[in-house]
Amino acid sequence: MSDNSFSRRNFIKISGVGAIAAASLNLGGMLSIPEALADESKRPQNADEALQVLMEGNKRFVNSMKKDQERSAERRKEVVAGQNPFVSILACADSRVAPEIIFDQGIGDLFVVRVAGNIVNPTNYGIQGSLEYGALVLGTPLIMVLGHSGCGAVTGAIEALQKGTEFPGSINNIVQAIEPAVVKAKGEKGNLLHNSIISNVQIGVDKLNNSDPIISDLVKKGKVKVVGANYDLKTGEVKLIS
Ligand SMILES: [Zn+2]
Repeated sequence: MSDNSFSRRNFIKISGVGAIAAASLNLGGMLSIPEALADESKRPQNADEALQVLMEGNKRFVNSMKKDQERSAERRKEVVAGQNPFVSILACADSRVAPEIIFDQGIGDLFVVRVAGNIVNPTNYGIQGSLEYGALVLGTPLIMVLGHSGCGAVTGAIEALQKGTEFPGSINNIVQAIEPAVVKAKGEKGNLLHNSIISNVQIGVDKLNNSDPIISDLVKKGKVKVVGANYDLKTGEVKLIS
């Protein structure tokens, strides 16, 4: 979103998928999207297409066959007037997990929310509201919660539960938000960190699917799909979590 995206002058016309979503919630009078959007015809039209584009991009990244044209000066000009991303992604703040890079996408393709531990916290208006904006106003048909191997935030939650480690300031709040995932993973076979990372994503997907009133409604109406995935730091591969 540009700084002036919320100004009245720029919000004068409702169009595109976001408008349909807004109208379906009877929020048409309150919400609209910028008048000039990047070419919508090029964008994946549904969640399955969006997922396919992401996974193909990840394959290019893994095989070092990245495309660069989406980051050109031409592309930059194309999206000045408005954005038209095809997916909203909640990813960890970890410096090694940059969604545009690991999915080989360009400027204006991904609406990304990043927070340590990729936690879904409905009481955090910054995370929640951003994902709602992506799904409802920008009309992304797909929301992805993306965890990753070796996540420090999840490791912290394990340490907090096993050793009683306390973290300073708000770091402790993040760790506490992940603890239910560790508790859930404890009884499972295999590596506790890996299983906790997976269950943290699953809990996030579940929370978003039931997140009232906006995302749950879009999911029920089949306009938005929420998926979980895990990124492997070593191989570069993203795998879907069922
Ligand atoms: Zn992480």
